[in-house]
Order: sequence, then C-alpha cells, then structure tokens
Amino acid sequence: MNLNLKLKQYINGKWVDANSENTREIINPFNQEIIAVVPEGDESDTKEAIAAAREAFDYGEWPSTPATERGAVVRRIAELIERDKEELAYLESLDTGKTVEESRGDMDDIAGVFRYYAEIADKDGGELIDSPVPNSISKVVHEPVGVCGQITPWNYPLLQASWKLAPALATGNTLIIKPSEITPLTHIKVFELMEEAGVPAGVANLVLGAGDKVGAELSSNTDVDLISFTGGIVTGKKIMQAASSNVKKLALELGGKNPNVIFADADFDIAVDQALNGVFFHAGQICSAGTRLIVEESIHDEFVNALVERVKKFKLGSGFDEDTQMGPLISADHLAKVEKYVEAGVKEGATLAVGGKRPEDPELQNGFFYLPTIFTDCTTDMTVVQEEGFGPVITVEKFSTEKEAVKLANDSIYGLAGGVFTNDIAKAERCAAKMRMGTVWINEFNLYFPHAPWGGFKQSGIGRELGRLGIEEYTETKHIFQNLKPETFNWF
Ligand code: NAD
Repeated sequence: MNLNLKLKQYINGKWVDANSENTREIINPFNQEIIAVVPEGDESDTKEAIAAAREAFDYGEWPSTPATERGAVVRRIAELIERDKEELAYLESLDTGKTVEESRGDMDDIAGVFRYYAEIADKDGGELIDSPVPNSISKVVHEPVGVCGQITPWNYPLLQASWKLAPALATGNTLIIKPSEITPLTHIKVFELMEEAGVPAGVANLVLGAGDKVGAELSSNTDVDLISFTGGIVTGKKIMQAASSNVKKLALELGGKNPNVIFADADFDIAVDQALNGVFFHAGQICSAGTRLIVEESIHDEFVNALVERVKKFKLGSGFDEDTQMGPLISADHLAKVEKYVEAGVKEGATLAVGGKRPEDPELQNGFFYLPTIFTDCTTDMTVVQEEGFGPVITVEKFSTEKEAVKLANDSIYGLAGGVFTNDIAKAERCAAKMRMGTVWINEFNLYFPHAPWGGFKQSGIGRELGRLGIEEYTETKHIFQNLKPETFNWF
C-alpha cells in the first residue's frame, strides 16, 4: 500500500532511518495486514534528538521568538491539519481500527487544540506585582521549561499528541515526541505539516520505537527538563522513577475506571444512550470511558434490559464501512488482555448479561474484534470493577441512596472522570462536589474541549492538559526584582 508518507523519524530537521537500521511493521487491526514499515529507533536515535532539541533551546531562536510569531506557526499547523483532514483521518483509522467518522471528529478536535493555543500564545505577558520594598519593581514572567520529552499512547494517537505539541510549541519549548510504537502514522504526517508550517529544525523531533528504549531514554536523560506522558499506570510509575534522575518536571495522564451514576429521576432514554456513548466509542479504548455504571435500584432491571437490547444491535466491522459502529481492538496482545479480564469477571461471580466473547461473524475473524459486553451483579471488590480493562466492557452496580452512589463512585484508585444523570440539579451538584475526579459531567458523558483542563485526581495522574493550565505545564515562573535605589547594607 502506498501511503504517500515519509515513514521516517524526524530529527534536527531531517527525515532519517534508525541508526540501527531496524524497522517495525505496522499492522491493520481490522485484518492484520501490514500497512507500513517504519524505522525502529532506540536510545541512540533518542540521544541525537535530545541533543538537537537542547541545542535549539539553548542557542536557537525559538524560545525568544515573539509569542505572536510562534502563535502564527501554531495557527498554520491547525490550518494544514484542516486542509489534510481526510488523509489524517484515513491514516488514524487504518492504524487504530476506529471508525473513520470518529477519526474525522478527532481531527476537528486536534485542529481546535492547535487553534486554541495559537490564540492564547501571546496573551500572557507576565505581571507587575505590588512590591513591599520601596523604590523597586517586582515582576513575574513565564518562560518555557526547556527540552520536553513527550510520550503518547495508541488509543487517540494524534489527539493526545496535540494536547502536548500545541502548548509546548506556543510557549517556546523544544521537544522530542515518541508515539506508541504501534500507532506512529498520524504523528509522522503531522511532522510533515509542522515542517511545512515553518517549525525550525531541532525545535520538534520525532523518534519512533519501543517504550523501554526510546521512552525510557527520554524519561531518564538529564538533558530533558520535562516529561509529559499519557498512558497506563504501570508505565507512569516507571517514568516517575526515571524522571527523578534530574528532578524533571512531570505531567502524567494515566488511566481511569470511571463511574457513571444513573438516578431513577434521570431522563431514561438519554441516560441509556449516553451510558452507551460513554463506553463503546473506539471499542471502549478510552481513558475516560464510563465503564462503571452505578444504577439506582428501582430502575436497575429496566435500565440493564434497555442497554442489552441496544448492544445486541451494534454493527461491528471495518472502520471504513459507513454503517460500522464499533471497530476492532488495537492488537492481538490487547485482545488477549480483554479476554482474560472478562474471564476474571466470570470467575469472581459477575453475571454476563451480553457479550463476553469474540464475535462469530466469519468476516471479522481476521480482526481483533470483541463483542460489547455488560456484566451485572457486580461488587466493588471484583477485578472488573476495580481494574481498567480498556475494552468494550461495562460493569453494573446498584445503589439505593445518594450517599451510597457517591461512595461507590469514589471507590477506586483512579480519579479521572465521572458522570451523574438526574433531573434534580441540586442533587447533581451535590454529587459533583463530592466526586473525586478531574472531570464530572452532569447529564453528559465524555465531552471535552480545549478550553477546559483535563487530568486526574488520585492515581489518574499529575497535572493538567488543555485549557490555560495546559500552558502552565510548559512554563516556568520567574520573579524578577529590580532595586531602583540600591544602597549598601553594611552588615559585614
Ligand atoms: P502504555 O503505558 O503501555 O504506553 C504508553 C506509551 O508509553 C507508549 O508510547 C509506550 O511505548 C510508552 N512506554 C512503554 N514503556 C515505557 C517505559 N518504560 N518508559 C517510557 N515509556 C514507555 O499505554 P497504552 O497501552 O499505549 O495506552 C493505554 C493507556 O493510556 C490506558 O491506561 C489509558 O487509560 C491511558 N490513557 C490516558 C489518557 C488520559 O488523558 N488520562 C488518555 C489516553 C490514554
């Protein structure tokens, strides 16, 4: 297949193969065909990219380029993403298996993120603060952090990258990004667009390869000032340890086991629909998927029946077929993980209301498909209720009081996101105030936009992406004090 893509790494303004000349085959999760062969970089490629980013930060012009000019480059990237939206959406669906309609939506969001940071890039000129010292000027300014290492996962490859690339570039940092080794295609394409938009050589570098080589080098290398990671909790903990080498600034966007609380007074049809939307997009491979349904006892049976009826009609298939609603899982390894996870649920006594296996449709046998699955009779001690399965699997728990609902919602090591469905706004606000999560949706699930911060409480992470806080991750704050009437102190 001719992808019309460079299929190389991008280091110091050059498109390059891996130093080792190793390569990796990229697999289409729908049919296991090889869609591309890309360089497989390692520590040596990563060190070169870090050296280029260091040089560009310490001696290049990007950090001191006026923010308005940097904003113009970031805006140009947004325009180019909009121009090439169809190609980008095609690549993302080819690489991840998600429906092309979802990928188109992702591309709109991604362009929106670059636009948002282009617009606010020059809106923070620092501030004068009221100095308590007579005859002095005291000002607070924000400067780029330096060389940033960025590591992204496979579920929303370019979307997660945009949350890192746009604010880092807008604030004058230099960077090295490493996509998941199994989903590099849209990262490569966006680097072509960033080159076209005029990002100077060395400022943004792309290294392809495995987490324990490229990712580990980025996390531990003492020439990297900040590491921003999106991925699983186990990797996040390793990165946190490696980043201690030079006390790097650290931003972690980790997993979630997100509750969706449905009260009996909610609009029934909307709650059913949103409960499905909350989980089954991209076959449940969403960090904020509302996989823990917590349903008021009085409507529990009716609610579960309505979900099951809808789930049975889901159309699984190729992301490029217009009527496909759900694509495959990302890989054979991940499919095996989801299968084991569901087996654990059955063993621990949860009841399978629907799904729980691979589809039998002969046309889907070459892909990594798994049926949408709903477990009932779940209790908080079960693996399927506590661990992130990252597949199309919902667990349902029951509650009878508001207090109990909030308690169940908070019963997790994670705190990424959650939802509440009710028509009693006071009750919704009370629950939202008590839920220990970075995002709480009321009568909505899984909505986000660039203006609002995104991140987790508890073990879902450290720091925030998006919004103004997403810029703060990429800036250091400096206080500059100037004495306008210096005098001797005569102590010594
Ligand atoms: P993962 O942790 O396996 O991999 C993520 C990235 O880390 C990949 O690029 C991988 O190569 C790299 N990596 C692996 N080992 C490494 C190491 N030792 N050092 C440095 N880097 C290493 O996660 P995944 O399976 O790609 O993605 C799924 C996870 O991502 C889920 O847990 C999901 O919840 C999470 N996620 C979170 C958010 C969020 O916003 N909080 C968004 C998307 C995905």
